[in-house]
Amino acid sequence: MNAELITIGDELLIGQTVDTNGSWIGEQLNLLGIKVTQISSIRDDREHIISSLNVALNRSDLVILTGGLGPTNDDITKTTLCEFFESQLVLNKQVLQKIETYFKSSGLKMLKVNSDQAMLPNNCEPLRNDRGTACGMWFKKNGVDFISLPGVPYEMKGIFLEEILPKLKTQYLTSNVVNKTIKTQGIGESFLAEIIKDWETELVSSGLKLAYLPSPGIVKLRITGFGNNENELAKKIDGFINQLKSLIPNYIFGYEKDRLEEVVGELLKSSGSSLSLAESCTGGNIAHLITAISGSSAYYKGSVVAYSNEIKEQLLNVSPNLIKNNGAVSKEVVEQMAIGVKNAFNTDYAIATSGIAGPSGGTKQKPVGTVWIAVANKEKVISKKFSLGNNRERNILISSLSALNMLRLMLLN
Ligand code: ATP
Repeated sequence: MNAELITIGDELLIGQTVDTNGSWIGEQLNLLGIKVTQISSIRDDREHIISSLNVALNRSDLVILTGGLGPTNDDITKTTLCEFFESQLVLNKQVLQKIETYFKSSGLKMLKVNSDQAMLPNNCEPLRNDRGTACGMWFKKNGVDFISLPGVPYEMKGIFLEEILPKLKTQYLTSNVVNKTIKTQGIGESFLAEIIKDWETELVSSGLKLAYLPSPGIVKLRITGFGNNENELAKKIDGFINQLKSLIPNYIFGYEKDRLEEVVGELLKSSGSSLSLAESCTGGNIAHLITAISGSSAYYKGSVVAYSNEIKEQLLNVSPNLIKNNGAVSKEVVEQMAIGVKNAFNTDYAIATSGIAGPSGGTKQKPVGTVWIAVANKEKVISKKFSLGNNRERNILISSLSALNMLRLMLLN
């Protein structure tokens, strides 16, 4: 059973849009145990589309296309599919009604190009789109399934999850698939792989699969198992996760869709503790992560974005001599910042960050990417130095996540 994906759109080939549709659908199919053998991006061009469909027809069992279903002249996928599947466009009254309701409720004038979206090939199964006006379409030719979806990721994902996934499960799933994801912070993937190598060998030899999924500041580990008995598979995977917990207890912060800021928020809430922040190099990003969680007012009191030395001294009570002697990016200063904000806001916990986010501003002693983070509670303050890279955005994100993980560990201890 081979699947292939064809993402259509000139914007994908000139570097204007990154093909996230291909990677997202690839991940979904992989989770179902369907092997994706090729992802291609092609132009909005009739001949290209036809030749790609012909190639796919001869080598794949399932072909999923995205893009080019909109109402404008450059959207040629539907008419090209009509030609390939030898169909006629016919009016689908149900779809027309939905489009009319959509325009009425949004107060927009409906144009002919919009109502034309209700014209669908007569030999496809229409796939309901609750988020837009372009329907998905499911065709069959010589035993091969062809599914065409809109390019807009939000619409494509909605149709995929609601209309396609249940059908693929009944049609293609021969055995059960169980996936579990473990989320780690504070360790790079190669160091992690080194620490868990014996565990990994045992896991793989037991028939399970392991994937490392790194992103800035976080490495996810996904364990996948295939088999007939879903409960047994889940139990087997849980057994390996328990072993992993004792191997890397400080790095695992959550599972599946858990977010670090959410995990930290839960710990603060359940212990009835409050938090304040003094952010220099992270510029308020930690506050942003924390306040993006609904209910964070239960534990988060506020922050000082202490970017200048003057603010560090005046609002956080950092001694000018300390800054003069050690520099603002130092253990001494970041610890004082944490204590200063904790006292000023009268909180149980505080985080402070000070660093050189880059790409400019580094020195030989303190190169770009040098970041000091401190976490304080009523009894103690701990701090840690990080040596990150040159990318400002990455440095801010990694520093924010590292700070949250330091707080998580302090709360657990
Ligand atoms: P529309 O009704 O908006 O015209 P469509 O099906 O015609 O939808 P496109 O016009 O191809 O889709 O793309 C619409 C938008 O969706 C693009 O501007 C782009 O931002 C996004 N998009 C298209 N294809 C992809 C893709 N493969 N990955 C990520 N984003 C995509």
